[in-house]
Amino acid sequence: MPPRTFDLAVVGAGICGLAHALAAARRGKRVVVVDRDRQANGASVRNFGFITVTGQQAGECWRRARRSRDVWAEVAEAAGIAVVQRGLLMIARRAEARAVLEQFLATDMGAECRLVEPADIGTYGKGLRSESFAGALYSPHEIRVESREAIPRLAAWLTERHEVTFRRETVVHAAAPPRLETSSGTIEAGAVVVCPGDDFHTLHADRIAAYGLTRCKLHMMRLSPSPFDERLPAIMSDLGMIRYLGYSELPAAKALARRLEAEQGEHIANGVHLIVVRGADNSLVVGDSHHYAATPDPFAPTVVDDLILDEFAHVFAHGAPPVVERWTGTYASAKDRLALVDKPSDALRIVIVTSGTGASTSFALAEEVVADLFG
Ligand SMILES: Cc1cc2nc3c(=O)[nH]c(=O)nc-3n(C[C@H](O)[C@H](O)[C@H](O)COP(=O)(O)OP(=O)(O)OC[C@H]3O[C@@H](n4cnc5c(N)ncnc54)[C@H](O)[C@@H]3O)c2cc1C
Repeated sequence: MPPRTFDLAVVGAGICGLAHALAAARRGKRVVVVDRDRQANGASVRNFGFITVTGQQAGECWRRARRSRDVWAEVAEAAGIAVVQRGLLMIARRAEARAVLEQFLATDMGAECRLVEPADIGTYGKGLRSESFAGALYSPHEIRVESREAIPRLAAWLTERHEVTFRRETVVHAAAPPRLETSSGTIEAGAVVVCPGDDFHTLHADRIAAYGLTRCKLHMMRLSPSPFDERLPAIMSDLGMIRYLGYSELPAAKALARRLEAEQGEHIANGVHLIVVRGADNSLVVGDSHHYAATPDPFAPTVVDDLILDEFAHVFAHGAPPVVERWTGTYASAKDRLALVDKPSDALRIVIVTSGTGASTSFALAEEVVADLFG
């Protein structure tokens, strides 16, 4: 029988909520997680499952990503979650992009990464247009999980290993510890963490409104299993260097941005950059784009997908395999921060990752929040 009262109630069973459940359960707390959906359906299962360290903003975000990657590795092994890919090859198609990578390598964050000359790119795997590149950066830090399998497995393991209780298909209408008012009755908990993803209106709308958040819609595709070289790490390219703050905040990124605006203006207008990761079946998950709105429309114009595939064609020597799945996802976005932790009272926190970094940083963020809540 699950306990009737809990030390911690978590609203939201995406990666942010599950990370808080793990951090509290590791401290021996009795935890309940409440979600309106029967199974995870938000950003946490729509993403690349790409736990990215290199390229995250210097400082707090990069530190959180390093720690979260380590927690992912521990949890994946314990819970039986497959790590389907490791490492990142950041391709520089242009000299200006190589200059960004060289500057990055001179920072502390570049310490375990290395510059790869075009002639050596083939040692990381075949199938890239290596001869046309100016170079690449290899990062050993990244791991990739298949989120649509990993998130349900993580939730099941939290119950099996840590006795975390889940209440699914349950909407939380009010969250004020020691009580949660839900669509299926009251839950008692000493502390509450609200991890609502990009739902800014159901709980504590006034507090969340103060942060001026918006939402970002992304296009994603899966390409049919292909002769993608199994040695290849995750692939990104020049457009990613003006989106990922760990590169874009370097002085050399200014010249790259000017050149990309001149040569790939339509990509930039649609927030397109290239991430290619591999599935266990050798299918490729390819994205993405960024369109911002309070309520993003549900439409996914093919012209945006074509821009993503255009960049794919500049990086891969073989044509893109057929698209077998398309979907969009949304996440919370803020102009001035990558994540927020709001403290309405001693026992209540609202935690929102306000950038596309939640898979990469939530475990560390949750450890900080839980340490602050429970001492
Ligand atoms: C297409 C795409 C690609 C991405 N790629 C990456 C990537 O490669 N690497 C990376 O690090 N990040 C990536 N991200 C970002 C990352 O996925 C998000 O930052 C992260 O998943 C957010 O997790 P979350 O738990 O906060 O939100 P969600 O996963 O949206 O979960 C929130 C949950 O809260 C529930 N909920 C909300 N309000 C209530 C309520 N009142 N009552 C009950 N339930 C409620 C919802 O039902 C939902 O299940 C990507 C995002 C997208 C969309």
